[in-house]
Amino acid sequence: MEEGSLHLEKQVDVPPGLIHFAALDNFLNLCRANSLWPMTFGLACCAIEMMATGASRFDMSRFGCEVFRPSPRQSDLMIVSGTVTWKMSTAVVTLYDQMPEPKWVLAMGNCAVAGGPFVFPGQYSVVPGVDKLIPVDVYVPGCPPRPEALIEGMLKLEEKLTGRRRWPTVEAK
Ligand code: SF4
Repeated sequence: MEEGSLHLEKQVDVPPGLIHFAALDNFLNLCRANSLWPMTFGLACCAIEMMATGASRFDMSRFGCEVFRPSPRQSDLMIVSGTVTWKMSTAVVTLYDQMPEPKWVLAMGNCAVAGGPFVFPGQYSVVPGVDKLIPVDVYVPGCPPRPEALIEGMLKLEEKLTGRRRWPTVEAK
């Protein structure tokens, strides 16, 4: 298989349910938003910031999303933190496919968002954005993004799930 044409045909489209129960869906989405389980998964330097976000100073557990799972089968959130190379892309896609639905992806850092500093004419090894492989729900730019930025990304994901923001927005002064 050519590297550049990797995968999209491997993704499984799960059809939306035929019957919706709005109140139940809202309740389930509220539960999901308050108990996201990220996969223990890091690819490069951004993963250090992700680990710092989970540690005591920034404490992701305040938002219910600190339970990093060691298996994709127990995870509903993939935080892609680091440089994705074509060599690694098959593993990234396999891990994503092994996560049960519903699942979400957060691209953390410029490398995961768009290839970062490694995209230049003639380069052949870095995927120019993980969304070339799997669908991404939230993008957190930065090289690396600070833990506060990752927390903001988690809040954005919660907002996507519930339709409302539970934490006030901090305005720049
Ligand atoms: S975005 Fe910057 S800090 Fe993050 S993995 Fe790429 S080079 Fe490292």
